[in-house]
Amino acid sequence: NLQILLKRRPVGAPVPEDFDIVETPIPEPGEGQVLVRARFLSLDPYMRGRMADVKSYAKPVALGAVMEGQTAGEVVASRHAGFAPGDTVLGGFGWQRFSVVGPERLFKVPATDPPLSASLGVLGMPGLTAWTGLEDIGQPKAGETVVVSAASGAVGQVVGQIAKLRGAKVVGVAGGAKKCDFVVKELGFDACLDHHGDLDAQLDAAVPEGIDVYWENVGGKTQAAVFPRLRDFGRMVMCGMIAQYNEAPGADAAGAPPGPNLGPIVRKRLRVQGFIVSDTGWSRYGTFRAEAEGWIRSGKLRWREDVVDGLANAPRAFIGLLKGENFGKLVVRVD
Ligand code: NDP
Repeated sequence: NLQILLKRRPVGAPVPEDFDIVETPIPEPGEGQVLVRARFLSLDPYMRGRMADVKSYAKPVALGAVMEGQTAGEVVASRHAGFAPGDTVLGGFGWQRFSVVGPERLFKVPATDPPLSASLGVLGMPGLTAWTGLEDIGQPKAGETVVVSAASGAVGQVVGQIAKLRGAKVVGVAGGAKKCDFVVKELGFDACLDHHGDLDAQLDAAVPEGIDVYWENVGGKTQAAVFPRLRDFGRMVMCGMIAQYNEAPGADAAGAPPGPNLGPIVRKRLRVQGFIVSDTGWSRYGTFRAEAEGWIRSGKLRWREDVVDGLANAPRAFIGLLKGENFGKLVVRVD
């Protein structure tokens, strides 16, 4: 079994030497368990958090343990009545070719149409994140203005398209002309702003009316430019702040750089709320998936993947994700 382990905890940006690649025997499923062979591994920003030994909503990966992650693949052996060899499933575990998993959070999904890898992106955790965050917090309405950061990425793509389906004006923020072109021409956002340029001037031109919903994926200077433009009763959906993930632990405590003046939250009656998709998302996965598959069938929901070949290339691809090198949902095709 090819596995990628956490060798040491990164200081700042992760480097290839933080990982170990090993071959181990293929595990046997126990009673009630299933052996899954991964075809695709999802790489996601939250994995940077799991590499650090800090208190969070989930436990860190132990040193020497397999890196955490979700895979989609096929059942090769089953000791659970609900699954048979040959079933394609979402919910395999870890940066490894074979994993033994229990039935909880194991979903049978089609092998093709939509392609299996979509179950890790538009129809998987990132899509579910977009859907639940908009349902519960963002709640965009027809005629409102929504701004989405990391707009070409796994979560951002879906956020913007759902907000359009709800009748909002949608403006993305992304890194570079190629990503912005895709966001407008392929995904149908009303505009996309390049955060490498002068974001304030671009926001002045694109959203002179102000912003009703800001979907926060990034933090940093994008947040600083957007926050003052929120309108009365605006909502800020705090999904992630990837620009800060390589900062030292404790950077969100004393000694952190000064943030925006939070006074407007009161004056403008803003709602600023964080959420974690796993809290309530997976119990609603069926509802989300049915709605999203409907949109895909009618051509209203599109997506882009960035597929990297070979499990051994996962560390390098993950390091690139934290620098914006991916273009679309990042997945590894497991050889
Ligand atoms: P993406 O596919 O959007 O990839 C990450 C993107 O973030 C990059 O392509 C890049 O886009 C941008 N980025 C990366 N590094 C930086 C940086 N240092 N500064 C500014 N931008 C950067 O990832 P996901 O869609 O999977 O995740 C998006 C966000 O959603 C993350 O913050 C993630 O942690 C969060 N998330 C939260 C969940 C929850 O339950 N709360 C669940 C899933 C994701 P660009 O080149 O356009 O800048």
